[in-house]
Amino acid sequence: MRCLNCHTEYEGHYCPECGQSAKTSRFTVKSVLSNTLDVWGMGSRSLPRTVWHLLTRPGQMIGDYLDGKRMPYFPPVKLLFVLCVFYALITSFSHGFPDETVTDNHAEATTLLAEELSERGKNNTLFDFGIGKVSVEGAARSLADTLDWFYAHKPVTLLCLHLFFTLSAWIVFRRAPKRPHTTLAENFFVQVLISSQLMVLSMLYTLLFGSQDGAFFYPLPGWLLMLLFVWDFKYLFGYSWPKTCGFTVLTHLSVLLLFILLCSLVFSLLSLALVPSPVG
Ligand SMILES: [Zn+2]
Repeated sequence: MRCLNCHTEYEGHYCPECGQSAKTSRFTVKSVLSNTLDVWGMGSRSLPRTVWHLLTRPGQMIGDYLDGKRMPYFPPVKLLFVLCVFYALITSFSHGFPDETVTDNHAEATTLLAEELSERGKNNTLFDFGIGKVSVEGAARSLADTLDWFYAHKPVTLLCLHLFFTLSAWIVFRRAPKRPHTTLAENFFVQVLISSQLMVLSMLYTLLFGSQDGAFFYPLPGWLLMLLFVWDFKYLFGYSWPKTCGFTVLTHLSVLLLFILLCSLVFSLLSLALVPSPVG
């Protein structure tokens, strides 16, 4: 064989220098179709396979992935984005499209939030300057806009949520019997795969019970989410069932704590920036 990309002479299925497949040939309708489907992960068999493993043996599958079994599975971050697209399709179809009630409710909620915040800003003497009032209203509006943006960009929202879980699980499970001292990066992939698992189940849930109005993260009930986390962590980290339950609760509590810390940090920075200048 002579590689069409780097012109290396070789024997086998793949070029040893650049990795291009020996089957590379001129474009045909078939190859264009499979190329197009590959972007969505449907041309390869690894997407259905990954989804199947996430549904049947999530903890073991995630462990396999960390241990280096990468080829059989679909890349996690790409998987999450593809699943979010499917989820958006399913929710819009199960609601009758376009999904007006959800967006309307949501727009209403963010407008209310903006109004309430600006009302508070007016009553706060610290902001009772012409310039100050305007910037509080502006801040409230941009906060509402930010929430809207996250609502419209599900994969990013989920990644942000799971970044908190990445940090918490990294700390809580650092002495796990099965996989001690997992790195932050490994925990990130763990969370992306857990998020993908939850997205697949959210789709099934939506198909069975209809679209749930305004679910910011997952439409699944809280107790089910908790059980799934316990199931995943049990087989991934290898603690006993009771200990896994305890550590899962601890992970959620520290996520809450981290979130409160981040919010207070952002708000104190914002209020520092919003103190009006004495000129006003
Ligand atoms: Zn080559």
